[in-house]
Parts: sequence; structure tokens; C-alpha cells
Amino acid sequence: MTEERKETEDLLSMDLPALKAAVGALGEKSYRAEQIYGWLHRKLAGSWDEMTNVPAALREKMAARWPIGAPEQRALQISKIDGTRKYLFRMRDGNYVESVWMSYHHGNSVCISSQVGCRMGCTFCASTLLGLTRNLTPGEMLGQIYAISRDTGERVSNVVVMGTGEPLDNYENLVRFLRMLSDENGLHISERNITVSTCGLVPGIRRLAGEKLMINLALSLHAPDDVLRQRLMPVARAYRIPEIMDALRDYYRVNRRRLTFEYSLIRGVNDTDECAEKLAALLKGMNCLVNLIPVNPVTERGYRETRREGVLAFKKKLENHGIHVTIRREMGRDIDGACGQLRKRCTEMDQKA
Ligand code: SAH
Repeated sequence: MTEERKETEDLLSMDLPALKAAVGALGEKSYRAEQIYGWLHRKLAGSWDEMTNVPAALREKMAARWPIGAPEQRALQISKIDGTRKYLFRMRDGNYVESVWMSYHHGNSVCISSQVGCRMGCTFCASTLLGLTRNLTPGEMLGQIYAISRDTGERVSNVVVMGTGEPLDNYENLVRFLRMLSDENGLHISERNITVSTCGLVPGIRRLAGEKLMINLALSLHAPDDVLRQRLMPVARAYRIPEIMDALRDYYRVNRRRLTFEYSLIRGVNDTDECAEKLAALLKGMNCLVNLIPVNPVTERGYRETRREGVLAFKKKLENHGIHVTIRREMGRDIDGACGQLRKRCTEMDQKA
């Protein structure tokens, strides 16, 4: 057991071996741990009482030491346009995180947060305005998905780690979360249906390649050169684009998953023809997809989104170079703009209270 593991141990963070050890310490047989694990991670039980085939005495002993600690739903906004659901959860220590549920024709997707706040400081992002409070545990990442699944009553088929936080800045917890999420004793979500989005922490990308997970990587690029990127993202001073591209190519060599580049279009900043040309040159020959996102205006920052014609022109330019491009469906635009803003408002309200 590593130090970090002891520190963060909560019930939903325990993988099956850890749960077996906990149940074994109470003098119980290990199949009891399998039953409990199934209740928690497959049947998504919200309370110990639901675990009807586990003896009441064991449930009581376990409950006294291990509260389920599921995130508590504090707010829910449902888009009138497309049914996208944005949840605000309160964690056991009173911190808030946001998660989003989206329904596509190919299934339901959940976008989760990996940290309370973020310390990467991207200038267009609301999630980083209050800095990093703490990492989320594997159980708190799973808990967001389980709570949403319970609330909607629908199966989740895709998971994207694209909410608040930099997942590779919470590496150990992220990887344990990924393994538990794809585990056949749990929700068993295919690694191919999981995407982790990073601002480009090179050591983390390299380490992740070594995990032999078949998950998809998305890189938040947002600028085709380091000068502009450094204006938008402080992390770009630590890791330069050529270094990041090398790490991504190596990642690709290991798991052969098509890479996604996220590019938030900010009017007059990174949406010029010159940017499109440079971006095309940078990505030439890669098996990749560029996801264009008109920037969600964050009032604190004063950036505006590229107009629709500009987005289409930028897309066309890239396509002329044979690059695959999608424009992010502007899901739930009516429910409170950029990610992180709902959490920020609630956190500030609590601080004032
Ligand atoms: N830290 C990770 C994941 C969280 S952010 C990362 O950087 O990838 C998820 C995506 O939303 C990133 O591409 C991020 O740059 C982008 N993003 C953040 N704020 C945004 C905004 N106001 N408008 C558009 N995209 C934004």
C-alpha cells in the first residue's frame, strides 16, 4: 500500500483486493467482499441497507467504519435544448464538484471532474479561478458516475475526464479510477470508451503510455505555437509543443488510439487563417481529430467566442489539409455557460455564508 492510498482510502476507492482485506480483517470470508463490491460498483447501491444478501451484522460493522460516502446531489440543471444534465455534487468534506451527463444517439456520456479546482491557470477557464483545493479520490470520481447513473436510471457507456481539474496532476488516483471503471466486477466500461483530457503534462502522458490502458487521450492545445500557447496557458512554459507531440506520438505507438486535439476558438486571438495553417502543419500526418470549441465566455477574462462563420472557415482550412475536424456540439448552452462556473458560484456563496 502506498502512502497516498492510505490517505485517500474511502469505501468507493477500494478495489476488490483492498475490500477483501477490509472484510477479512473482520474475520469474514472473501466472497462477502465480492458481494459487497458488486453492490457498490455494479448495482450502484446508495446505502448499506440495500445489500440484502449480506448479513445485517456484517453490514452494520462495515457501515460503522466505512460510510458509502456517495457524492450528494445539490443542484441539477437540465437543458431545454438537448436534455444535457449538469450536476453539482457536494463531497463529504463540503467541497463541490460538477459533472455533466449527455445523451447521444450512440449512448450516454458522463463528463467528470478529477480535482476540486485546478492549479493549471489556463486564462480562459473558470475552473482554475479559485486555484486547486485538493485531488479527488478514485471513489469520488466513480461516485460522480454512479450518482448520475442512479439519478437517470440509464446506463453510462462513455466517460470523459474533462471536467474541473487536470487528471494527470492527480495521476495515481486517476489510474486506479480508470482500472476500477473498466473492471469486469464494476461498471465494466470499455477502455475504448474512456477519454482523458490533459493540458499536456509530458511526464504524465509518458507514464500513462506505460500503463497499457487502451483509453483515448485528448490534448488541450488551443494554439499552434508556443508563443501564443504561453499567453493562454501557463503550463505551456513548462512543456513545449514539440515535446508534447513527441510524447503523444509515443503514446500512439503503444495503444494506436486516434488522438484528439481540443482547440477552443477565441475571437481575434487564436482563430486567424495563420493559426489554422500553422495548426495544419503541426498535425500533418498524424491520426488525429481536431475538436473545435467556440470558447465559453468567462466574464472574469474578457474573451469572446469566434463567430459561427469564423468557426466554419477555420474548420474548412484544416479540412483542406486532410485533417478530421468536429465542432463540439454546443450542448446545454442554456444551462450556465462554461464548466466550473456553477461550482464557483456555490463555493463563493458558502464562503460568504
Ligand atoms: N485539465 C484538462 C481537462 C479539463 S478542461 C485539460 O486541460 O484538458 C476540458 C477542456 O475544456 C479543455 O480542453 C479546456 O482547455 C477546455 N476549456 C476550459 N475552459 C473553457 C472555456 N471557457 N471555453 C472553452 N473551452 C474551455
